[in-house]
Amino acid sequence: MASIQSPLQARLEKVRERIAMACLNAGRTPESVTLIAVGKTFPAAAIREAMQAGQRHFGENYVQESIEKVAQLAALPDATELIWHFIGPIQSNKTRLIAANFQWVHSVDREKVARRLSEQRDVHLPALKVCIEINVSGESSKSGVSPAEAPALADQIAALPRLSLRGLMAIPEPTSDVSLARRRFAALRELRDQLNARGHALDTLSMGMTADMDAAIAEGATMVRIGTAIFGERTAGITH
Ligand SMILES: *Cc1c(COP(=O)(O)O)cnc(C)c1O
Repeated sequence: MASIQSPLQARLEKVRERIAMACLNAGRTPESVTLIAVGKTFPAAAIREAMQAGQRHFGENYVQESIEKVAQLAALPDATELIWHFIGPIQSNKTRLIAANFQWVHSVDREKVARRLSEQRDVHLPALKVCIEINVSGESSKSGVSPAEAPALADQIAALPRLSLRGLMAIPEPTSDVSLARRRFAALRELRDQLNARGHALDTLSMGMTADMDAAIAEGATMVRIGTAIFGERTAGITH
């Protein structure tokens, strides 16, 4: 069936090609990288356009906004195939909504949040898949735990019954210096390897956004979180 691509669908296709090229350059298969389309600030209709082009993984930063979108899309025939990733800062009073509406949480950065997510995850749902957010840029970024704090938090999360600890996430400082970007991503990969050497089984590196996905894939990203290159520039001034 021939179908006309919308501008959004054409951008999505370009991102897929860019991922495939980065994988080729890194000697990796394109299937080894999952594309998460980050639709924050964009309406459910935009998500739907991406769905029509086969996109299934979506990332969101704001709890209220994302729950409205999940509800708006719920009636679509393929809504049950969607995989929702929470990637934003987590307030502990929002953990119940996150545990109920998402399959993945990438931004766990403290034990209290992890414990609440585990307690609040419905026993009839599969364990919530989580990543620990690591601050790989030191002073210049506020969110995430330091690499030194990661082993203790990983051990705590691994002991929680309703969570499945899958990997690490990072948002390095924006930079046009590709070798600096690669060092940050390499640091996340090395930390993942260290945790696995201590007995964890982490298979996920959530790293790479519109500006730096190529560097992230070169350093082993298994999930890239792409907003702007798919949905377009976000309008400034939206507050949550
Ligand atoms: C907004 C956001 C993204 C997507 O960023 P782009 O630069 O628009 O691709 C990825 N990850 C997180 C955590 C974000 O907040």
